[in-house]
Amino acid sequence: MRNDNYYKMDMREMQFVLFEQFKLQNLSEHALYQDWDRQTCEMLLDQGLKFAYEKAGPTFGMAEEEEPLFNPEDCSVTINSYFKDAYKVGVEESGWHSVMVPEKYGGEGAPNSLCNAIYEFISGASPTLHMFLGGPGVIANLIIEHGTEEQKEFWTNNLINGKWNGTMVLTEPEVGTDVGAIKTKAVKQEDGSYLIKGNKIFISNGEHDVNDNIIHLVLARPEGAVQGSKGLSLFIVPKMRLDSNGETTNVKNDVICGGIEDKMGIHGSPTCSLYFGENDSCQGFILGDGTEGIGLKQMFNLLNEARIATGHMANSQAAGAYYNALAFARERIQSPEFHNMRNPEAPKVPIIKHPDVRRMLLEMKSRTEAGRALVFKLCMHVDKKEIFKESDPETSEKHARQVDLLTPLVKSFLSDQAWRVCELAIQTHGGYGYLTDYPVEQYARNVKILSIYEGTNHVQALDFVGRKLPRNAGEDFRNLISEIKAFTADNKDNSALGKEVEKLDQMVDLMVEKSVVLMAWMSPEKMSLIPANANYILEMVSLITCAWLILDAGIISADALASLKDNHPDIDFYQGKIASAQFFCRHLLPEVVQIANLLAEEDMSFINIKEESFSTTW
Ligand SMILES: Cc1cc2nc3c(=O)[nH]c(=O)nc-3n(C[C@H](O)[C@H](O)[C@H](O)COP(=O)(O)OP(=O)(O)OC[C@H]3O[C@@H](n4cnc5c(N)ncnc54)[C@H](O)[C@@H]3O)c2cc1C
Repeated sequence: MRNDNYYKMDMREMQFVLFEQFKLQNLSEHALYQDWDRQTCEMLLDQGLKFAYEKAGPTFGMAEEEEPLFNPEDCSVTINSYFKDAYKVGVEESGWHSVMVPEKYGGEGAPNSLCNAIYEFISGASPTLHMFLGGPGVIANLIIEHGTEEQKEFWTNNLINGKWNGTMVLTEPEVGTDVGAIKTKAVKQEDGSYLIKGNKIFISNGEHDVNDNIIHLVLARPEGAVQGSKGLSLFIVPKMRLDSNGETTNVKNDVICGGIEDKMGIHGSPTCSLYFGENDSCQGFILGDGTEGIGLKQMFNLLNEARIATGHMANSQAAGAYYNALAFARERIQSPEFHNMRNPEAPKVPIIKHPDVRRMLLEMKSRTEAGRALVFKLCMHVDKKEIFKESDPETSEKHARQVDLLTPLVKSFLSDQAWRVCELAIQTHGGYGYLTDYPVEQYARNVKILSIYEGTNHVQALDFVGRKLPRNAGEDFRNLISEIKAFTADNKDNSALGKEVEKLDQMVDLMVEKSVVLMAWMSPEKMSLIPANANYILEMVSLITCAWLILDAGIISADALASLKDNHPDIDFYQGKIASAQFFCRHLLPEVVQIANLLAEEDMSFINIKEESFSTTW
């Protein structure tokens, strides 16, 4: 069995982001997180990294070698025993599945930022194990958020203790992006429960034997409800029926797995087709007080969390690919250095000495560091939203809106650039990168799904342009821009990165100037320019936001560097952070100019081209 452990992580980088850039330790000044001082946080981080290295890492290769097995006789799915063991250790010894669940419901109640640092370790080491460990907490949190008191009591205990797992169930054979068209039916019964009937596909971890029950959260349309998304309700549908104490019985709830998909990546996670109510005996319970038609709204909480997790997982995988490419580049000997190319006597050097390899490495480093900073900027808003919920609802709301604004950036930009980073990691390896003997091709296959599920990246772009930008008359976006402008005003003269800060400042002005075109595109003849350019707009805002955060990191590093004595072990680290900021602003940020020009051009060529003209042969 292939159990090679490829996981690599730089704990110094995570410490920098959490404690030097975003000051996680200061959260303990507030009652909600008073137990989470720096020492406690560091202890949990160490445990998380140990778990990632020792338990999660070996399952990375196993996900490919010992894939989940569908058993047609009883429609069950068997997962290999090492995964099950790693899940058990993750739950029983460390509680990683519930670290984010509030304490009063039996979780750890840790700050979101800290939980996400640990999730970065686990998902970087093994995305499929992370999907199993992440399931119970997110499903429990949704029931906690929208369920009645009885539902919370009845359904969440066994999720929070990790005995059960959970899924989110939207997709149907003819319904992907167009969620409002869901056909699965729900027929109300006299006792208030519903009979669920419909065929769902592509359900991650929809059937398996890691847990003794699976709680499916199913979007379905109650009988007589209106068409479209306003007619959908959300149902709690267990795989196995429960007794009156909320414990699993051995009575099946008529949820049948029809098979698992043979797919490109994340091979350890079974992607299942599920038949609900083939025998007219699938019982579901509407989430909440019984109000129908609010299912998609309820699901959005989970979807938003899932979107953040998706972008974060993409960045974690990309970072794994980068560290592996770096290790390879330090070892692989090839050719003399450029200035010695014509000298047959010159020593051959590790490829990290070649300028083009260094360019690729620094692009991977700066993209993943900028991505990490973006994730933790968002997590800090989540933590502050929670901290001020009761004492200062207005401040809490401001943070909540920044979470909403940044979510599509995290989901889209990070999953798109993860694909680019993995491609560079393969390129750095040369031919070896194309072989399954090295992990980078697996990272690439794993990350590709992340721009597709939880709403394709175009769905994120439409959400950003159509909802997030104009929300509150544009105030949320203006708040983000003001924060960036305040930063550029304060740091234009910075001796290490002043020029890059100046460039960012110009790009922000250009973006603001060009975004006005959106208003002009409201007319019927130009309307299609909005969806046509939505991805570009999201990319432009993401580039600027990431440039701001990586410059912030660079300036903190330059300041820290100034006070260090020669030979201090942190010198190389801080210099690396400055180099990342320079690279991002010099090589990646200028794409903003190209996008701005494109917006001004109002290019309709790909809208106007006749469908026949794409190819006249087929
Ligand atoms: C490995 C895997 C795991 C998954 N896990 C789950 C899960 O756990 N639960 C679940 O419910 N689903 C899951 N899915 C399904 C996933 O969420 C969908 O695949 C995704 O939402 C896209 O839907 P689709 O595949 O039908 O593509 P389509 O909706 O057919 O889209 C195809 C293309 O057309 C574009 N497109 C579609 N509509 C529009 C439009 N109106 N305007 C512009 N462009 C448009 C899309 O952006 C995309 O590029 C999973 C899928 C996979 C492959």
